Amino acid sequence: MTVEILRPRDVPLGGLRAIHVRRTLPHRDRSFVGAWCFVDHYGPTQVRAGNEGGMDVPPHPHTGLQTVSWLFEGEIEHRDSGGVVGLVRPGEINLMTAGHGICHSEVSTAATSVLHGVQLWVALPDGARETGRGFEHHAPEVAALPDGAGEARVFLGSLAEVASSPVHTFTPLLGAQLDLAPGARLELTVDAAYEHAVLVDQGEVTLAGSTLSPGHLGCLDPGPDRLALQAGPEGARLILLGGEPFEEEIVMWWNFVGRSHDEIVAYREAWQARSDRFGAVDGYVGDVERIPAPALPGVRLRPRNRRGRTAP
Ligand code: MN
Repeated sequence: MTVEILRPRDVPLGGLRAIHVRRTLPHRDRSFVGAWCFVDHYGPTQVRAGNEGGMDVPPHPHTGLQTVSWLFEGEIEHRDSGGVVGLVRPGEINLMTAGHGICHSEVSTAATSVLHGVQLWVALPDGARETGRGFEHHAPEVAALPDGAGEARVFLGSLAEVASSPVHTFTPLLGAQLDLAPGARLELTVDAAYEHAVLVDQGEVTLAGSTLSPGHLGCLDPGPDRLALQAGPEGARLILLGGEPFEEEIVMWWNFVGRSHDEIVAYREAWQARSDRFGAVDGYVGDVERIPAPALPGVRLRPRNRRGRTAP
């Protein structure tokens, strides 16, 4: 059982107040864990008066994916062109389906003094990627892990003997926050058909014999039906992701997921032209009304598959 450790790169998030995130997916060597195709981890960062240090991402578009917002601390106001205004709070999943096209804004609220969480994307399979806009919110119960090892919040899919989430997904997925007690050891029963990954938020975690530090994403191919985890002496907090291998090729650029260079070009033009494809966000207050798409690179965008970018 080989754990592939992906180390994060520091990326400034677009927006007026560009918070920095630690990005582990997509990675040169790996595009997906299941259909999870994007893993950003941020904070804890102090937020001062006037949202200084906080998040303020003006309206921007998405296609062909779902966004999962999950916070450890803080509060974010979400507004989208499906008419949803919602608060993202710690321990509650907000799942936005972009499908054919959506746009949204994300702003940390005045009540936020510390911002800390993850932003994850799920690639939609070809048969679902033109689906309509959607939004689901769910606050999972805090479930006990076996052997007094700690607590779990299962926000997507199911963790055997622990808990399940009622939130609908378009491919088989797992997403959970695990809080491990100091020195805890446990073996989790998992689906052997899934790829799995552990994102460490706090503490040290040993996954199948490999030690992961905060910010690392430790990835495992399908095969094992037990995952051995051990927390360091201070305990650990982690996000466990999983899913059936995603066998499609996608093209990811900026906020879009498509299947070809030409599709991405068309999405970009539609956003710049204020097409109905993306609709409009009501009620966002900021100096910038919407984020313009960046220029495309001078080369054709290359598809990615499970192993990274495909040959040109
Ligand atoms: Mn977004």
